[in-house]
Amino acid sequence: MVADYKIEHWTSSCSAVGSTKDSAIPISVNNQAATRQAIIDALLRKGHKLIERSSWHAKPPRNMLTPTSWDYRDIVIHHAGHSYTCAVSERGAIEQIQKAQEYDMRKFYDIGYHYAVSCSGDLLEARDIRYTGSHVAGDNTGKVGIVLLENLAEAGEAWQQEYSRKSLWEKLSGSLDIARDATAFNQATPTREQIDALSALIAALLEYFNVTALGGHREYQLLAPGNEGRACPGRFGMQVVKEMRAKFGLGTPSK
Ligand SMILES: [Zn+2]
Repeated sequence: MVADYKIEHWTSSCSAVGSTKDSAIPISVNNQAATRQAIIDALLRKGHKLIERSSWHAKPPRNMLTPTSWDYRDIVIHHAGHSYTCAVSERGAIEQIQKAQEYDMRKFYDIGYHYAVSCSGDLLEARDIRYTGSHVAGDNTGKVGIVLLENLAEAGEAWQQEYSRKSLWEKLSGSLDIARDATAFNQATPTREQIDALSALIAALLEYFNVTALGGHREYQLLAPGNEGRACPGRFGMQVVKEMRAKFGLGTPSK
């Protein structure tokens, strides 16, 4: 079901004698706010509580975010990367999303993704779904961003997917990152709880948006302007992507 309806109620303006429909006050139901809530309710019915922004004490956006076109067609899967390890509790998951928001807000007005899923299967609201995300460089229109809160890449993947394509200068300025990538030891594999929570989230999103494709950040980044490489969401994240595509019958990313 695509929730693109708009409901308008008209008051009868009966307080003024001789008034017409033109003097009535139109009230529009904010469909996007209702849909955001409906996704939260759908998750709860499936046994998954979404930890809302207010519950993890999200910082307010630094500036006005761009309202979305509300035409979400793609789901993009990310991993949080090298500096994250699996959280085993809700408290740990909250600390991770706070850290991710702080990092993203150095560059963007708010956390870039829309939802996050921890290793222990906690689901968290990230950027409000009513606003366009900042998670695929140069091409965020119509894309829901979901981040898995751990490192799902093997050592050397950032080099293979990202830096080997770059100029010598970019390689030099990224040398610390390259060294960290070459020696990464905290690589995790997704847990069953995490996959179950992610599945419930995707199912809820499919109830409200006409999503046709799902992919990993690296797949979408190659299609975006600039044709840049990205390691995200790592080899193990890409296994999750393939599993979710098959499970929900979704297509691969395309322009
Ligand atoms: Zn990513």
